Amino acid sequence: MRKAPAKASKVNIRDYEPIVGRSYIEELRMLADKLSGKTIQNINSTFVGGGVAEILSHLVPLLNQLGIDTRWHIITGETQFFEVTKKFHNALHGKIEHVSDNDFALFLETTEKNLSELEFPGDILFIHDPQPAALISKKKDIGGKWIWRCHIDISHPDSKVWQFLKQYIVNYDAVVFSSPNFVQELPIRQFFAPPSIDPLSDKNKELLPESIDAILAKYGLTRDKPMILQVSRFDRLKDPLGVIQAFELVRKNFACQLVLAGGTASDDPESQEVLEEVRERAGGNPDIHILSMPPESDIDINALQTAATIIMQKSLREGFALTITEALWKAKPVVASAVGGIPLQIRNKFTGLLCHSVEGAAYALRQLLANPDYGHWLGHNGREHVRQHFLITREIKDYLLMILALERNEDIIYL
Ligand code: UDP
Repeated sequence: MRKAPAKASKVNIRDYEPIVGRSYIEELRMLADKLSGKTIQNINSTFVGGGVAEILSHLVPLLNQLGIDTRWHIITGETQFFEVTKKFHNALHGKIEHVSDNDFALFLETTEKNLSELEFPGDILFIHDPQPAALISKKKDIGGKWIWRCHIDISHPDSKVWQFLKQYIVNYDAVVFSSPNFVQELPIRQFFAPPSIDPLSDKNKELLPESIDAILAKYGLTRDKPMILQVSRFDRLKDPLGVIQAFELVRKNFACQLVLAGGTASDDPESQEVLEEVRERAGGNPDIHILSMPPESDIDINALQTAATIIMQKSLREGFALTITEALWKAKPVVASAVGGIPLQIRNKFTGLLCHSVEGAAYALRQLLANPDYGHWLGHNGREHVRQHFLITREIKDYLLMILALERNEDIIYL
């Protein structure tokens, strides 16, 4: 299946008024009216797993509710294609990867196949991340405005992979990065729009305490010890082994438990291998719980995040980390690495604690375990920071303004 299943949104755009204010929603309607009759098409490589799918599953129905015909398609490919694009992903994040000429050829072959199979109804096409980036090669035949929406921190990319991709990126009308720190020298317009969460989704809505307890029981978890949680795809760049190391340091002084919850994504063939490494490293420690979550576990993830005492994101590289946004919205103290887009969310010692090493993470965890009031204060600030900057309504506004600016060839003017 290439087209997103038509998912009836359970929420109405008006339901966001108590969270962001009525005038904000009216402003969105006004902007959307200016684009009525246009079709927005999103293309990425998976409907489930990871941040891009998470955002699109909420953004697409809301844009449709605002009266803009918005579609979501995915490209398809064999496992080998996704092995190549995972190498691209890692290399763009600055990790050393061996990418061969055969890999580039396979990437282009799969792009060609998708070009012949996909439909392109969009007037405005948002192409997400590197996997579908070379679809632009048929822009002249297809028409429309093309925007490359890059969710990766490409501030220090492997130059071979970046030079290869750049030949395609320069043909886009614009590129959107999650942080101003990711900009590259390009002859096209660059916009900045951080990702966002939907506060009314199953992942983020408020749950009843008894539902949370039932979900914890399902996973064999209790609240008898403070819970440190990291939710992430099993990916080496999320540093699950570093999380275990930090936990082991902390556990020498504090009774606590660690939960590593994650799943796999169909466009990430490495995850099974990493999950096995993590299980082996945990070595049967009864205070370390490794949960392999199926897709569609949103309520379960919400329950784990809500029940957690501290949430970690000890990534080695990171685009933005929606897991942090989700944690802050639940007013949780967060310990996270100062990489990629994370410092946009974690203002050190104000909306959470930043760390630069395993020892630094352990130090921050100890501070929070010893002083729960400090954690509550950070969590409260974090929630307000998310309300101001990282809710889906803001991302919708950014996209609408960006499209209007491109259509009219003007700079973005905030109303
Ligand atoms: N996620 C999930 N199930 C999992 C692991 C992650 O639903 O087993 C979600 C997580 O809650 C977040 C998104 O996937 O909404 C991950 O986005 P993030 O930006 O943190 O990382 P990415 O996976 O895109 O690198």
